[in-house]
Amino acid sequence: MPKIVILGGGYGGVLTAKKLLKKFKKNKDVELTLIDKKPYHTMLTELHEVAAGRVDEESIKLEFGKIFAERNIDVVLDEIKTIDFEKKRLISDNNSYDYDYLVIGTGCKPAFYGVEGAEKYALQLWSYEDAVKIREHVLDMFRKAEKETDKQKRSEYLSFAVVGAGFTGIEMIGELAEWTVELCKKFSIDRREVKLTVVDMMPTILPHVPPKLIKAAEKILKKLNVEWMTDSYIVEVKENTICMRDNCILNTRTVIWATGVEGAEITEDLDVEKKERNRIVTASDLSIPEYPNVYVVGDSMYYIPKGKDKPVPQMVENCEHSAPVIAHNIFCDIKGGEKKEYEPHFHGVMVSIGGKHGIAHVGTEKRMYCFRTFIAMFIKHLINLFYFFQVAGWNKCYSYLMHEIFHVKNGRSFVGSYFSKSSPNFWKVPLRLFLGFMWLREGINKIPNIFDDFNNIFLFNLPADGVSAVSAATDGAEQWGEALPVPGFIESIVEWSLGVFIAPIAPYFQAFIVFAEIILGLMLIGGLFSAFASVATAALCVMIYFSGMASEEIIWYFVAAIATIGGSGSTFGLDYYVLPYLKKHWKKAAFVKKWYIYND
Ligand SMILES: Cc1cc2nc3c(=O)[nH]c(=O)nc-3n(C[C@H](O)[C@H](O)[C@H](O)COP(=O)(O)OP(=O)(O)OC[C@H]3O[C@@H](n4cnc5c(N)ncnc54)[C@H](O)[C@@H]3O)c2cc1C
Repeated sequence: MPKIVILGGGYGGVLTAKKLLKKFKKNKDVELTLIDKKPYHTMLTELHEVAAGRVDEESIKLEFGKIFAERNIDVVLDEIKTIDFEKKRLISDNNSYDYDYLVIGTGCKPAFYGVEGAEKYALQLWSYEDAVKIREHVLDMFRKAEKETDKQKRSEYLSFAVVGAGFTGIEMIGELAEWTVELCKKFSIDRREVKLTVVDMMPTILPHVPPKLIKAAEKILKKLNVEWMTDSYIVEVKENTICMRDNCILNTRTVIWATGVEGAEITEDLDVEKKERNRIVTASDLSIPEYPNVYVVGDSMYYIPKGKDKPVPQMVENCEHSAPVIAHNIFCDIKGGEKKEYEPHFHGVMVSIGGKHGIAHVGTEKRMYCFRTFIAMFIKHLINLFYFFQVAGWNKCYSYLMHEIFHVKNGRSFVGSYFSKSSPNFWKVPLRLFLGFMWLREGINKIPNIFDDFNNIFLFNLPADGVSAVSAATDGAEQWGEALPVPGFIESIVEWSLGVFIAPIAPYFQAFIVFAEIILGLMLIGGLFSAFASVATAALCVMIYFSGMASEEIIWYFVAAIATIGGSGSTFGLDYYVLPYLKKHWKKAAFVKKWYIYND
């Protein structure tokens, strides 16, 4: 059995594993292993959100056990220290792993460019632990400042500097600026005491986007009270100070280093060709020229695509493009076939500046577009959802939507608090009971009709020759008052579908609806699967309206159904007991894990 080992479960490693699993779905004669020093995949692109207290720290961790549940791959927790390419072996402190094909996806670490004291005194932002550390540190600064009477010290505690005004640095300072507004309220500190600075040696912030987006970003930063110091070359970082080449000194106890990256530690000593801070030089099929059975994915690779003059960017999109090429080429190595060259087409960048604002420069190589704030953030979330769907399906998309939109605190989202304001479910209990009672009464009232005249239960009066279905149905609605008007095109669709689908089974269909009314009523009263019952109620309302039989009464049914969707049965209802029990067993089911259809 050929052994394929993927080293590193970052964006590149996970996507390669997923693509390989798909490729070898029908050929179970390969051994696939993913090795990572952590038991989870870290969503690095969201680190700043954790670092600045916007989202919960758990939201950026995705356990490999979940990603690869019920799949034909071994996930090994180990830190590889070196690779013996000749013996085709990965070596850690306590183990070694043989491979026939290897994919290196170990990513990067922050680069300090030899700046004195930077590694020692600055905080880094390149791992889950880094993000949590920054968050705790910032909180600690506010705790200390709150009771500090010495002016100089207090000012140092409340000064925050991010070094590097590229994408990562701007995302970090923007997020921090938003958070400090909340922290000032919490610790009763005057916002004017807080100083936020982003420093860069380049003449402008975000040097890789067009000037009009730089201006837009500057405007947002200004609004957030962030200062930027460009053309400022840092020569030393001390415990309480940053020193520039021109002697300008910034006093602060918080320096976050976001200047750039270099290849992960393991790549430093590998005996292969490397360029630009430990990136491994690859051939056009993404293998290493010296070792054609070894491929490189994601940030670790150094590859200049044909016709381009720069290496591929160290971004998630590079992982998304390179992973399928590598999976295809390994498949060809083992099973035969024509290998592919890596010809990526990148689609730009999106930079969030806090949870509410951002800029995006996206499009195709021929035409790029500039977007700000709402649309920029919308695109960023959409792209993230696309990635998460590939990696962990509905499960991750659901939790992402929850922490970015539906559970945000203090309006820190591009849609503000509109979707996250919530009230306790018990306020909805009377409405749920009343809605249930009304359905039950409706259904029970119609039961005698089923027995009296099975063909005329009156839910739909089917078209007599020459009479329109909707107008015939409308007559039936008279008992509830005047029917609501239905747009002409809907009337035509309903007429057609009534004739084709409903007419032959009309009495049974109507009896079924009566039955559904009773069941929905009971479910709502008992609070059992109440979210489902509410959605079904809303759907039934729409159906009745389309049929031309809805009186004004249907509007309140519909509105009440929408209000009770959010788990109204979880207080004073059976859902309180039944749902946790079912969820526990549901999450364990193999097909549920495999298809990622459980919710966290
Ligand atoms: C704060 C921040 C924001 C970002 N925002 C964006 C953005 O908005 N858009 C964008 O496109 N990109 C963004 N990036 C860059 C993006 O995250 C990287 O391009 C991407 O993570 C690269 O993926 P990768 O698989 O190459 O490496 P990584 O995701 O870094 O994964 C490397 C994996 O290898 C493992 N590993 C390393 N060494 C070893 C070892 N010796 N043994 C075992 N395992 C090892 C690590 O544990 C890790 O799981 C951002 C990065 C940061 C830090």
